Amino acid sequence: MKEVVRERTLIRLSHYQAVLEGAGIPTFIRNEALAHLEVPIPTFCPALCVVDDQDYDRAIGLLHESAEQAAKASTEDCLCPACGEINPRSFDLCWNCGAELA
Ligand SMILES: [Zn+2]
Repeated sequence: MKEVVRERTLIRLSHYQAVLEGAGIPTFIRNEALAHLEVPIPTFCPALCVVDDQDYDRAIGLLHESAEQAAKASTEDCLCPACGEINPRSFDLCWNCGAELA
């Protein structure tokens, strides 16, 4: 068992876990119960671990890829299908005309 990544919030860890599990790597989250503390203590932050140490390098690679994709997706703009205005990817509705963005 080897720790791959440590985060203050479970939301991000759950996402990472889904990425790794999706690739067939068995994982588990250590300190999951402590994530609900009101004042997070870094040492006790939840950590995503691979069950099999041999999966460690692959896991790091996958998370790297996933982070790159996420960064790319969030910087890409999207065009409103109704008025052609450019909107940030994070918007659900066009800021200009209110149409739903694809
Ligand atoms: Zn629009």
